[in-house]
Amino acid sequence: MAKRPGESPMAPGAKPKRERAEKPKADEAEYAHGGCVCGAVRFEMQVPAVWAWHDHSKASQKAQGCAYATYIGSWKKRFRIADGEDNLGRFEDVERKTTRSFCLTCGTPVLYERAHSTRIVNIPRALFESRTGREPRYHTSLGEAPDWAYAGETLAALKGYPGVMWSRPRKLKRRAVDEMFE
Ligand SMILES: [Zn+2]
Repeated sequence: MAKRPGESPMAPGAKPKRERAEKPKADEAEYAHGGCVCGAVRFEMQVPAVWAWHDHSKASQKAQGCAYATYIGSWKKRFRIADGEDNLGRFEDVERKTTRSFCLTCGTPVLYERAHSTRIVNIPRALFESRTGREPRYHTSLGEAPDWAYAGETLAALKGYPGVMWSRPRKLKRRAVDEMFE
């Protein structure tokens, strides 16, 4: 039975996890765990990851259904599918020389591999349930970022809809006016 996200992998009374500041010894490798939405596919990665970045490319927008995808890159030898490997579907993008694997039950994108870095496997950051040892400080394909992506505009509470925030359409108005004079 797959563990539920957030569930502690430790037995009751087990020693708590090491503090981050303490450097683990070579024989006490630390792992970050994660999985897909339905829990059929589970994986583990030795931390720290190689790097982490925000991918703004059109291909990743579509493959993940989002404005941009945040990935964690790991050496393949430090990553393994712990559960549900048979439940992964693969899509080879011949044109872009990439392969994307996803859970056949729930559709969650799990792996993103690129032909130009064969020793690295990329995993969506959102799938991890704990820290990965890398902050996503890099941005790629920013030129492909959509104009509807949230870019930190000031938000205000929407009256009558608790929990809904919105940005006033000031920018859109200005653009509409500009277009009139083009
Ligand atoms: Zn799944």
